[in-house]
Amino acid sequence: MERNNAWKAYDEAALQAVENAARGYRAFLDQGKTERECADAAVKAAQAAGYIHLEEAIAAGRAIQPGDKLYQAQMGKAVMLFHVGRQPLEKGMNIVGAHIDSPRIDIKQNPFYEDTDIAYADTHYYGGIKKYQWVARALALHGVVAKKDGTLVRIVIGEDESDPVVGISDLLIHLSQEQMVKKASDVITGEGLDIMLAGRPLAGEEKEPVKAMLLQILKEKYGLEEEDMLSAEIEAVPAGTSRDYGLDRSMILGYGHDDRVCAYAEIQAMLQLPAVPEYTCCCLLADKEEIGSVGATGMQARYFENAVAELLALTTGKESDLALRRALANSRMLSCDVSAGYDPLFASAFEKKNAAYLGRGVCYNKFTGSRGKSGSNDANAEFIGRLRKVMDDHGIAWQTAELGRVDLGGGGTIAYICALYGMEVIDSGVPVLSMHAPQEIISKADLYEAIRAYTAFMTDMTK
Ligand code: MN
Ligand code: MN
Repeated sequence: MERNNAWKAYDEAALQAVENAARGYRAFLDQGKTERECADAAVKAAQAAGYIHLEEAIAAGRAIQPGDKLYQAQMGKAVMLFHVGRQPLEKGMNIVGAHIDSPRIDIKQNPFYEDTDIAYADTHYYGGIKKYQWVARALALHGVVAKKDGTLVRIVIGEDESDPVVGISDLLIHLSQEQMVKKASDVITGEGLDIMLAGRPLAGEEKEPVKAMLLQILKEKYGLEEEDMLSAEIEAVPAGTSRDYGLDRSMILGYGHDDRVCAYAEIQAMLQLPAVPEYTCCCLLADKEEIGSVGATGMQARYFENAVAELLALTTGKESDLALRRALANSRMLSCDVSAGYDPLFASAFEKKNAAYLGRGVCYNKFTGSRGKSGSNDANAEFIGRLRKVMDDHGIAWQTAELGRVDLGGGGTIAYICALYGMEVIDSGVPVLSMHAPQEIISKADLYEAIRAYTAFMTDMTK
């Protein structure tokens, strides 16, 4: 039982549509290198499509009607879009949920020091990374600094062609005899991921003159004091834009496909819905998935539940806990997150019949987890049966997969958290090669099929 390669079925019009989707996605990816930037982009896209802020609707006491479009943001790092359907909310929603945080290197709160005429920032990496992949490459700094007076200074350094970039040095091969025999996990240590920021002493400065140079630049260019770093969130990410990949341009190389490719597909699907969908459709963009969906912006926080409660109150005029529970329990969800693409160079990590392949369309994972499905949301067969029909009725290229060979490792998504409400949830996403590396690879065909799949799911999936 083998799935077809999606490219084989495309005519000229479809190839053009694939390319258009890829172009839009690359722009989204290049502008959204942090969860905050992606959240901003999602809100802007929603506003342009006529979505109004849920808080505004609440303040105005506005009664919500089928066809209304609302968005809600959580601390600028998570976003929810709702497109109200014909059916009452208690009948459940069709939800697509992705995460917009990606593995990266965060600057510590007390970061700066000088050693031997070089000024550095100490860092703490975020999410699962192979640390050795992040050295000897151009990094950009993105983030915010919250000053005591309440102002928020936004920082993006290293993306404009005229900007400087920063980075982490590696040991020259000539002197690496000891390093080369170390375990890959020990080649570069967490505390060794220090970013070079400056290398020129400030004239007239005796003590730590290079660090003084750095602090002077921060003061002059951004109005920042060293103490302001205590309330900063600066993320070091690979500098530069995404690129077409392969001589046939069939793929995209870029930072943060996990999980911005699914986030983008969801947003596009949301914007393509009919004026009044049958069921209320929801696009969820969560933060903190890469570190366990914790914190006030992670999926485990209650912001989604709260937003649905507010929506119910505006729709029905009633504040009913029972109605909220019904709305959540009766919902259907695609937990949209990237899948491990089969890599012929690492064939032994996969079981070929149950792997996701680049170019064979959007992927469904009945379960993720590790070892004996530990920690996974094992989607119900009945739900998958109905999903198969929706996918096939719409002629969507899709495949099923597990996350690699049994016993080899594992992972999870936000699926199990949403399943706590008793709703039907299955993992769905785009296959990725080199996942969590500074630059990851996807097929344009899979992005295109994901957008079509999420649209079909939201318009046609029923209880
Ligand atoms: Mn992910
Ligand atoms: Mn991930």
